[in-house]
Amino acid sequence: MDFRFTEIEEEIRKLAAEVSQKYLLKIRGKLDEAEEYPEEFIRETGRTGLLSVYLPEEYEGMGLGVTALCIVMEEISKVCTGASTVYGANALGAMPIMLSGTDEQKKKYLPKIARGECLVAFGFTEANAGSDALAMQMKAVKDGDAYVFNGSKVFITNAGHANLYTVFAVTNPNRGARGISAFLIEKGTPGFDFGKKEDKLGIRCSETRSLEFNNCRIPAENLLGGKEGLGAITALNTLHRARMGVGAQGVGLAQGAFNEALKYAKQRKQFGQSIVAFQVIQHKFADMAMKIETARLLVYRAAWEADQNPKGAVAKLGSMAKCYGSDIAIEVAIEAIQICGGIGYMRDFPVEKYMRDAKILQIYEGTNEMQRNEIASVLLKESNK
Ligand SMILES: Cc1cc2nc3c(=O)[nH]c(=O)nc-3n(C[C@H](O)[C@H](O)[C@H](O)COP(=O)(O)OP(=O)(O)OC[C@H]3O[C@@H](n4cnc5c(N)ncnc54)[C@H](O)[C@@H]3O)c2cc1C
Repeated sequence: MDFRFTEIEEEIRKLAAEVSQKYLLKIRGKLDEAEEYPEEFIRETGRTGLLSVYLPEEYEGMGLGVTALCIVMEEISKVCTGASTVYGANALGAMPIMLSGTDEQKKKYLPKIARGECLVAFGFTEANAGSDALAMQMKAVKDGDAYVFNGSKVFITNAGHANLYTVFAVTNPNRGARGISAFLIEKGTPGFDFGKKEDKLGIRCSETRSLEFNNCRIPAENLLGGKEGLGAITALNTLHRARMGVGAQGVGLAQGAFNEALKYAKQRKQFGQSIVAFQVIQHKFADMAMKIETARLLVYRAAWEADQNPKGAVAKLGSMAKCYGSDIAIEVAIEAIQICGGIGYMRDFPVEKYMRDAKILQIYEGTNEMQRNEIASVLLKESNK
């Protein structure tokens, strides 16, 4: 057992930290306030190769797997979880191509995604199919050499900014989950548009919109994997891995909030001494540090498993990493505000944003209630073996 990152992973970690400090630290408050997309930051993640860390080498990626994806997600989230959401949603959109695409589809899109020339989004959720996502209703109806789409997907991160959309739709309503297929849909396709920008509590520099389809014709060659019925398995295999990235966002966010609170507690004086000298405050830091370290171990344990076993079942560890990482993120962020007292509650102090950003981690990529359902269901299956 070796708990250290490899040399290359450590280089990636430093690079992600540098890019986040340089392109986000000073402007994260402004981006949040103005709900402004982190354009320059994302361009830089493309230029430096950070967008390619988890993609296979044969498609111009670095081939460093889910572990490297988590490392980058953790480092960005220390500074701004809105920006790590933009970064992570791109991976969420690209993973289905990596896991289920045909050779032609991989060759066509993955190198461009690796270079940052093509940003991707993941269109899965519908207004009436959120937690119960496989009950989706939007149909893709075969018509000659195309599929015709009518309907919408809601709450899609990076909608409008992404050039490519991995969209899931029903191709055979009689087959339940096996009747769902995935498609690659390019921005600018006639009949494909975006809804209004959602006004959110946190992660405000990431953009969330609906995808609107109105008699939109998608060439049959854009059916992911070239076969109908692969949508549900593709989505689940993707989410089981991508959720580790959400856990990593939780770890990074919690670490960022911890660091800000510690810096403040050392310099804030009350009763003639800095507040960090009070044992009550020290115990808060001890508890926060234990939570962060436990979540970090779980996230990288899960990522290691996913990388050992690229096609294997990692649902339980993915759900555990996501659920625990996001639960401690909000706990730590709230405690960080408490340590900073009144100033911690103010918008021009960097701590309250961590709390607002933390909440979404318990909701997107499947709520934490659904993660607990998933963990329990695998545990029960394992106990019957
Ligand atoms: C900012 C943001 C960004 C997002 N980005 C994307 C994206 O890029 N792509 C995408 O496809 N989707 C995206 N989503 C959608 C997201 O994944 C869903 O919102 C989420 O899965 C929850 O679905 P819902 O909102 O419909 O909640 P609901 O399913 O309506 O759930 C409401 C409540 O009921 C609980 N609940 C429901 N069923 C059960 C059950 N069986 N057992 C216990 N509790 C249950 C839930 O846990 C929750 O507390 C995003 C959402 C947001 C808010």
